[in-house]
Amino acid sequence: SMVTPKIHAAILASPGMGHIIPTMELAKRLTTHHGFDVTVFFVTTDSDTTTTSKILELTSNLNGINVIITPPVDVSDKLDPNNPSLGLTIVLTMIESLPFIQSQLLSMKFPPSVLIVDLFSTMALPMARDLHMSSYVFLATNAWFSAVSIYLPFLTKEAFSRHANNHEPLLIPGCEPIRFEDTLEPFVSPWGPSHESFLEAGKEILSVDGILMNTWQDLEPVSIKALTKNGIIGRLFSKGTVYPIGPLVRPVEPAEKREGEKVILRWLDQQPDESVIYLSFGSGGTMSKGQMRELAYGLELSQQRFIWVVRQPIEDDAFATFFDTAKGGNASTLVDYLPEGFVNRTKEVGICVPMWAPQAEILKHPATGGFVTHCGWNSVLESILSGVPMVAWPLYAEQKMNATLLSEELGVAVRVKADGEIISREQIAKLIRRVMVDEGDIGMRVKVKEYKLSGEKAISVFGSSHESLCQITKDCEILLHQSFEGKGC
Ligand code: UDP
Repeated sequence: SMVTPKIHAAILASPGMGHIIPTMELAKRLTTHHGFDVTVFFVTTDSDTTTTSKILELTSNLNGINVIITPPVDVSDKLDPNNPSLGLTIVLTMIESLPFIQSQLLSMKFPPSVLIVDLFSTMALPMARDLHMSSYVFLATNAWFSAVSIYLPFLTKEAFSRHANNHEPLLIPGCEPIRFEDTLEPFVSPWGPSHESFLEAGKEILSVDGILMNTWQDLEPVSIKALTKNGIIGRLFSKGTVYPIGPLVRPVEPAEKREGEKVILRWLDQQPDESVIYLSFGSGGTMSKGQMRELAYGLELSQQRFIWVVRQPIEDDAFATFFDTAKGGNASTLVDYLPEGFVNRTKEVGICVPMWAPQAEILKHPATGGFVTHCGWNSVLESILSGVPMVAWPLYAEQKMNATLLSEELGVAVRVKADGEIISREQIAKLIRRVMVDEGDIGMRVKVKEYKLSGEKAISVFGSSHESLCQITKDCEILLHQSFEGKGC
């Protein structure tokens, strides 16, 4: 009888922590639970190679995964210097890196039969067809934003222009409409390059064998219903199926090596249960100097224990540190940006961490009781899976949609509202206290713990997301057999 070869999948991860982390979790999941061999390509810009290696260094359990970091490329000369769109930077970087990836694939002794791309690397899909690989796209986001991305090519120019010019909601069949207040740059500049590249991605996605999303059935039943086979959007696909496979979340890592992190976690050990609010704005999030001072005062007013990941303030650039978190400054310069005496006044109750904190570990710690977050999808999932309610403070990308999902549909967050150019200290203090002490009748803490349990169930054996990956594995096996038989093996 024939020996079944292992399925070898190549996964492409576009630059940025929010893309690298979930890709790594998918790779681990496929090797440990579904018997795959996996090669991951981490594509890097010239400024994020150190961040990429740092995160790989901090990740355990990479055994058996073949990691290839592509040579860094610089695309700054191809961008509008006055408006260097984040999405476009990533897309151009991917395009420049493709020849290297293709040559690596062609030189492998056991070439992969499956290619998995993300939302920013769909331009690699024609290559997969040329190489007779089956193709999947992993959208490391929720079903609602996935639905928009997938449905984009079916939206008329007129719909976009009514959205951009008249501020009408963008209607997505079977899903909540996207309010103008929650929109993204590619949707409001319908004739610009970032819109075009989004549209291209949407068209490419229509050709794949399957679409994987980092969400689960019970978290977003309505949007998922629209997307799955025979759903109002799902039926537009002749071939591929949409699968929720999440929540894939970075686990708590052993911290022996990391001195700075030990100090934070030891401090947490000494605090009462659910008494500390954690504040972080993701790998990219930055705010103005004025807003940062106001946040500091708001934090003091709230009278809560805290851990705050503080970055150097940068004016008018919400994602200034996306590719290089090290740009965020260091401990000795932090005091320059905080109100005078802040660090001293709060030293008994709080910690300011420069640049980067062990977020997964902090959120999982029993002393952590709330999270002020920019609503990056990985942060959101980490918070839910730790049973921690949130203050939603969205900054860029699809974060405003995420904030709406959390505060209006799931009821696990309260949302910051623009009350002037700068969000006031009074509002900040009120929202933090709302999550930490006077929740009222909103029951956020109870709800988030229910979602935590349903998420854990989804990825356990026989859970809905686990079953999705089993189905994908079966489909890949069938194709692999066919191609082996075709070659007379
Ligand atoms: N992260 C971290 N420490 C930090 C900031 C971020 O460990 O100080 C991790 C966080 O746990 C998450 C990822 O980086 O896994 C950020 O992804 P997310 O989707 O939340 O936001 P993005 O950075 O893509 O905007």
